[in-house]
Amino acid sequence: MSEHHEVVVIGAGTTGAASAFHLAQAGITNILCLEMGTAGQGRSAAGRVPADTPLIPGEETMYEPQNSGSAVFEGGPKGPRTIKMIVTLPPYLMLDGFADQHGWDGVKTYLELAIRGRDLQLELANRLLPNPGEQVKQCGSLMVCEPERVQRLRQEFDTLQRLGCACEWWDRDRVVAAHGAAANFVAGIWFANDARIDSVSYARALLDAACATGSVTLREQSPAVVNLNSAGADSPVTVELADGTQLQAGRVIVATGGMYSDPYLAGVLTPRYSYLAALPHRAPGAAGGMAAPDSANFFTFGFSHDWCVADNFVRISGEDHYSGLKSPRASERCGRLASWGWQTYPYLQAGVEHPQKYAIYSETADFMPLVGTPHDNSRVCYMVGCNAWGQASLSAAAALAPALLGYRSLSPEESATARLFSIRRFSARATAAA
Ligand SMILES: Cc1cc2nc3c(=O)[nH]c(=O)nc-3n(C[C@H](O)[C@H](O)[C@H](O)COP(=O)(O)OP(=O)(O)OC[C@H]3O[C@@H](n4cnc5c(N)ncnc54)[C@H](O)[C@@H]3O)c2cc1C
Repeated sequence: MSEHHEVVVIGAGTTGAASAFHLAQAGITNILCLEMGTAGQGRSAAGRVPADTPLIPGEETMYEPQNSGSAVFEGGPKGPRTIKMIVTLPPYLMLDGFADQHGWDGVKTYLELAIRGRDLQLELANRLLPNPGEQVKQCGSLMVCEPERVQRLRQEFDTLQRLGCACEWWDRDRVVAAHGAAANFVAGIWFANDARIDSVSYARALLDAACATGSVTLREQSPAVVNLNSAGADSPVTVELADGTQLQAGRVIVATGGMYSDPYLAGVLTPRYSYLAALPHRAPGAAGGMAAPDSANFFTFGFSHDWCVADNFVRISGEDHYSGLKSPRASERCGRLASWGWQTYPYLQAGVEHPQKYAIYSETADFMPLVGTPHDNSRVCYMVGCNAWGQASLSAAAALAPALLGYRSLSPEESATARLFSIRRFSARATAAA
């Protein structure tokens, strides 16, 4: 007889780990978390590039993709291991563009849940991480713009204020004091509560706490899940692994980042590449070994780049959020990020060797995650589609795992969240349009 679990969680990035944690907290037992690599890190450092990853000949060894979105760099001299937790709305659209798609109630719901997700993540990280002082940095974030976009940024700020989002308008002097004058950023919106977190340790800490309850088993280096089959609402889901093993699950959570696709996700979830460069940083004028103080998270209005000083690096990502559909050109794109960094921080030593890499995440057309079950009777719940800054919103979604799997009901507030993120929204719109 094949192995049976009450819930199988596929993927042990921050989303899968948080789902397993919240399920265990809700008293559900016999949960198996299956991870094809290492929890929080995706493929282990020694892992191979998956066969279907398109690579540029000659770049395979230089830029082996690490796959997971939860693990960014490896830490120490290999780049800062933190991801940023920010509450800002999907910035390609700006607030009024977002409202065109989801209504102003949708904007409000999104803001509230992103704030809830960030605060929940902060609370859990501070409680569970062994060394929160080092692993959680509540440095705030600053969305900056150049002179020609000040008016538009101000409009965005006024809307955020109207919606009750805690943020402050910063004029040129404050922006320059925080960032310097070189990049010609002249105005900003400051979000004091935003933070960065060591996401690898965070995923591990959530799983350690979940496993300590006795309700969760974590299986790392598992053969990848390749298929899910369910004969109907009354039958368990068969979870099929790459080596042919089959497990039975009462319920399943799919938290696989950008690395797994199935019929429900086809066409609505796109795997994307994100590129990162980490330029060795010393504070201007600081003597050789002196640590550069950590900075806020900076990001441009429109999100062409986001960057921060962390652990003696300037960590830069962005630009290629726009070209994530194209095959990786790591040296070219990481190179462009590095050039941008050297321009923005002119005192850094240009051309110096630095960690750089790309990894995979996934995104929907409206930049909102895909969360929930595809129809009322489904026993499979998706938690995917974290955009490049969407960790906070997926953290809030993961807290709904027990309700989304039918172990408790949703509160009215949670229902609004679940509707906004629902995996059914695209099919609902298609039906309405027909
Ligand atoms: C380079 C990069 C930087 C990013 N920076 C930020 C940031 O600063 N802030 C932010 O909010 N977001 C950021 N993101 C988005 C990021 O993807 C999410 O924030 C988040 O960490 C995603 O977590 P996840 O658990 O959903 O997915 P992942 O971390 O990708 O985890 C998925 C896990 O599932 C496992 N898995 C996948 N398929 C299978 C399978 N078939 N069988 C078994 N296991 C499987 C993988 O090995 C992996 O461990 C970034 C993404 C990338 C790529």
